[in-house]
Amino acid sequence: MRHDTNMENPRDKYPRPPFRKQQQPFPALTNRMVPIPDHGEDTYVGSGRLHGRRALITGGDSGIGRAAAIAYAREGADVAINYLPEEEEDAQEVVRLIELVGRRAFSIPGDITSEAFCQQLVQKAVKKMGGLDILVNNAAFQKSYPTILDIPAESFDRTMKTNVYAPFWITKAAVPYMEAGSAIIVTASVQAYDPEEVLLDYAQTKATNVILVKALAKQLGKKGIRVNGVAPGPIWTPLQVCSKDPEMIANFGASTAWGRAGQPAELASIYVQLADNSGSYSTGQIFGASGGGGHP
Ligand code: NAD
Ligand code: MG
Repeated sequence: MRHDTNMENPRDKYPRPPFRKQQQPFPALTNRMVPIPDHGEDTYVGSGRLHGRRALITGGDSGIGRAAAIAYAREGADVAINYLPEEEEDAQEVVRLIELVGRRAFSIPGDITSEAFCQQLVQKAVKKMGGLDILVNNAAFQKSYPTILDIPAESFDRTMKTNVYAPFWITKAAVPYMEAGSAIIVTASVQAYDPEEVLLDYAQTKATNVILVKALAKQLGKKGIRVNGVAPGPIWTPLQVCSKDPEMIANFGASTAWGRAGQPAELASIYVQLADNSGSYSTGQIFGASGGGGHP
């Protein structure tokens, strides 16, 4: 007798390496990737878990941030996304997908390496949505270099400003608006625990993301605000095709237990869980999704 189930084999759900060798200038665009990543457009089904919430997602135009934005909207949240002006095409697709399910979408482009912009971003999001209940610090810059001697000061500075300063500035501006039951989520990385030698400065920033989560969770405990992080492994997103050389892209994800890269869609439910009321005992935690490697 055939057993009725929706079970699927995670090994063969998605494209496997070798990927076509490809590279794009920063910040890369979704539709120029081959294959185009899966953000859950055809699969994510909501059930009102985030009804009426107001979420701000940095880097919400593409990759993991786009998957979170789609899931949040389908769970009943209004969503504001931040991204760079060069990514308008990606941002408009996310706005379209949010509005398609009857939620409000707000696009707020701008460069988060500026403290003044980070403050404006939060003010604008609060004004447009009427408040802020979920903050996802997800934007990041990554550039790989063979050794420490190859990392130019400007690249190091951009990595630090985008990945360390910006989440600090944005969170500092956002906390006064957040009430008990709100959630702050930071996208860290497997690199915080098990760094690749070519990602030295990026791995440093992702380790600071982990400590931001753990220390801030203690501070905000009394206010009833949860702070958690996500530590993805190799996920097929624009960040990768502008950071790594085409040879590395060809084998992207091959060394994981599944033998393939992850897709943004495979992380969306974690971002939902970390904002949903049902996850109320998790704060100061890091949730892994790395296909078998890493620590958390
Ligand atoms: P992505 O390229 O889709 O997202 C990164 C986003 O950062 C960009 O879309 C861009 O909008 C934003 N950004 C970069 N610099 C900015 C700036 N100066 N101002 C405003 N926005 C800026 O790639 P992704 O992989 O989905 O990245 C999302 C998060 O996931 C990042 O924090 C990244 O470190 C983390 N992560 C990714 C992987 C992976 O393998 N893709 C693995 C671990 C962690
Ligand atoms: Mg992008």
